Amino acid sequence: MNVGCNGAVDNPGQRIGRNRTQQEAHAMNLMLLGAQGSGKGTQGALLASRFGLVLCASGDMLREAMAQDTLIGQQVRPYVDQGNLVPDELMIGMVLERLRGLKDVRGIILDGFPRTLAQAQSLDARLAEMGTSIAQVIYLEVPRELLLSRLLDRYICRAHGHIYNLKTNPPKTPGICDIDGSELYQRVDDQGEQIQQRLNIFFSETLQLTDYYGKQGKLITVDGTQSIEVVNQAILADLKVTDR
Ligand code: AMP
Repeated sequence: MNVGCNGAVDNPGQRIGRNRTQQEAHAMNLMLLGAQGSGKGTQGALLASRFGLVLCASGDMLREAMAQDTLIGQQVRPYVDQGNLVPDELMIGMVLERLRGLKDVRGIILDGFPRTLAQAQSLDARLAEMGTSIAQVIYLEVPRELLLSRLLDRYICRAHGHIYNLKTNPPKTPGICDIDGSELYQRVDDQGEQIQQRLNIFFSETLQLTDYYGKQGKLITVDGTQSIEVVNQAILADLKVTDR
């Protein structure tokens, strides 16, 4: 089963002998912005593993809560299943709580949060309280028609959420994850009207965050129409971070 925040394997702050305040001030916190199907999940996993960052994917957190049928899972299910945004209060509470629980990590990479201005402002405030901030925001720009066709071809593995595309990144054996052998499935919200609804919300609401972070001088815009490798190289070329 997926977990919403994972990937940290190291404690570089301790290794180089920084105290906690210095370590947080130097944290490498990144954010991926982009519509559904823009490649955030794929690039997030690559960056988390390369730089030893904790990947925090809000959609994974919600799917985890729904699979476990927790109270929050029950509250969010109607929104997620219909392709609507989960209300800000619920979402902010859940993600900020998860961030509060992270100790001694090199940095985080956020995927899918924030999606509204209120979420972005709450996040900034919380990180400031923790003595840290978002360093850079990577916007994966992809036109709507391409997003739509990618979502229709997208399949996810049940065990760990590995992402495939039947046309551009198919599994070696149809229906089976190359990495862990689990079954591949199509998300309910990657079908039918929910896709259009989710893309509408992205372009009418979430896209404004590119202005918000652009004004903070943190935005990197990458052409997300290219192959996984080319997009990854383009991101790495613009990131002001160092390998572990
Ligand atoms: P994702 O896997 O990121 O596409 O998220 C799947 C669904 O979870 C979205 O369509 C929303 O219903 C919900 N969701 C994920 N992140 C957020 C967020 N930051 N704010 C509101 N709803 C969210």
